[in-house]
Amino acid sequence: MKKNIIVQFLILLILVAIFITGISLYNLRTVSIKSSVTSAESISEVIKSGLDLHIKDNSNVDEFLKSVSSMKNVKDLWLVKSDLISSQFENSKFKDPKDDLDRTVLRAGKTKYIVSEGFINTNVRVTIPYNANVTCLSCHNVKEGQTLGAISIVLDVSTLKEIGIRSIYVIITIILLAVIMVFLFSKKVFNPYFSLYTKLRDNINQAKVGKFINISIPPGLSSEVVQVTKDYNNLITIFKDTSLDIDEKLQGFVGYRDKTTLNTNPLNESKDIIDNLSNLYQFKKQVELDNTKNEIYNRIAQVFENKFNLKNFTFFEIDIKKQKMERIISVGESLFCYDSIKDNPHLCRAARTKSDVISIDFHESCPFFNKKDKFYYCLNIDIIENLYLIVHFVTDTKEELEEIKNKSLFISRFLKEARPAVEVKLLMQALEESAFKDGLTQLYNRKFLDENLKILIPQIKRDKKNIGLLMLDMDHFKAVNDEYGHDIGDKVLKELSRILEENVRESDILVRYGGEEFMVLLIGVDSEESALAIAHKIGAKVRENEIDVYAGTTIKKTVSMGLSMFPEDSSSFETVVKNADIALYEAKSNGRDKVVRYTKEQKTSVELF
Ligand code: GH3
Ligand code: MG
Ligand code: MG
Repeated sequence: MKKNIIVQFLILLILVAIFITGISLYNLRTVSIKSSVTSAESISEVIKSGLDLHIKDNSNVDEFLKSVSSMKNVKDLWLVKSDLISSQFENSKFKDPKDDLDRTVLRAGKTKYIVSEGFINTNVRVTIPYNANVTCLSCHNVKEGQTLGAISIVLDVSTLKEIGIRSIYVIITIILLAVIMVFLFSKKVFNPYFSLYTKLRDNINQAKVGKFINISIPPGLSSEVVQVTKDYNNLITIFKDTSLDIDEKLQGFVGYRDKTTLNTNPLNESKDIIDNLSNLYQFKKQVELDNTKNEIYNRIAQVFENKFNLKNFTFFEIDIKKQKMERIISVGESLFCYDSIKDNPHLCRAARTKSDVISIDFHESCPFFNKKDKFYYCLNIDIIENLYLIVHFVTDTKEELEEIKNKSLFISRFLKEARPAVEVKLLMQALEESAFKDGLTQLYNRKFLDENLKILIPQIKRDKKNIGLLMLDMDHFKAVNDEYGHDIGDKVLKELSRILEENVRESDILVRYGGEEFMVLLIGVDSEESALAIAHKIGAKVRENEIDVYAGTTIKKTVSMGLSMFPEDSSSFETVVKNADIALYEAKSNGRDKVVRYTKEQKTSVELF
């Protein structure tokens, strides 16, 4: 910009100089011509009077003209006669017209001139009419004022031109000197302003990308401009301090700094953080309204996919107490350790060490991750005691993994915000479970049965399936209590529930129906025979099972069972329960350690009884 202004200023000065020189040249030319014409007219007056005299005296006209021709600046001189004279005097000193100009002047009787400009010389040729005066009338047969001839004089005006050119040189030199002086002066005066302008421009550009730097004030500025610059510097300092302060405080809030935006505008960074905080706040509000734990986990997964652009991750819960590993949500391809640790979740390093496990420095940190060409990042969040949520991210490249690492604080922040809500859901789940479960055997209780039958029975009817209902009672259980005490009695009951769990399918339902009375619902059993086979198997296992009662002493127990089939025996489930009870009674009556299939006859007998 400095260069531009100076160049423009110089061009302007040069144009002014050219303009002035042009005007001077034009004026000089006009003056030279005018003065030449005037000189020619004066000379012609001399010639006229000389001619009058010499013609009368008959003296030597040629000599006279020669002397006039030798005058300074007169390059040529000749006289021409008009037709009027030619017809009267054949031997006149005057010659016939030389050119058109002569002829024109003879015809018009008026002075005319032409200028011929060469590179070196400039000539003005003036042709002046010789008109008849009183003297002429005595010898010539003419009227006064008639044009008798013309005098042509060629004057060299080069000398005048030289003077003019010299003065132009002087003008140009003066203008050039003025230009140089103005240039030097303006440079001295404007330079500090140019320098300040450049600094301001650079400084503003740097402020745009978050670098707030003070300007050093160049010397030579006016006091007003110095004050404005100082004010600008103060403003920049305030900007810098405030934005850093905001940035620092916000970092504390969110605990997240995106490494890719480091050293950029702190104001932009603050804006990003505020956006993130707002997202986090919205997320927390939504999570609190979520109904189930899975809804919460799904919401977190959506945030990870949409906000953090994560494509491969799995959420799984590890319950250290129950030695249970549950896969909750999987997005993309991940969890390359599941098969190795699902039965021994305590092997999960993230859960065991309660810290994050990353494959950046040591790919082998987790020996169970079996994809050598991929990278993993396992985040551990304690939900409640002994229950961890592990978020397992998998990436194809180290760079992607680095990105997750950079964002891990913020990712964790989302998880931590969701943790109280997940905790509440887990407690509710535990509460519900405990309300439906028997504390001693951890089997379902009758309350659970009542609640679930409403859903189960219509579903079984819809699917046209059977339920084999076994009513089971331990034989002479009272005697165990009496002989070995209640603790051993409890142990025997737990042993029985274990045997039941081990010998039925996962989909079957085990209920502790009363003290030492159990109900087994064989869901979807294909036939009465299959149900009986399962019952006999249970009976045999119980019979074979040795229970330690005290040091070295073991006991063996037996069970009696009654079987009724739903809906084969009755379309009412309550009736089927009653039937199984009747069959159990029959088994007890017939000597115990038996399985009895319910028949209609039994019903009659019990009712009678
Ligand atoms: P039977 O072969 O006719 O079934 O004889 P039994 O002794 O098993 O039958 P009875 O119904 O007379 O006795 C059941 C006993 O089970 C009575 C009760 O004290 C005991 N009992 C019920 N619940 C528990 C429990 O949770 N723990 C223990 N230890 N005993 C229990
Ligand atoms: Mg009983
Ligand atoms: Mg009993």
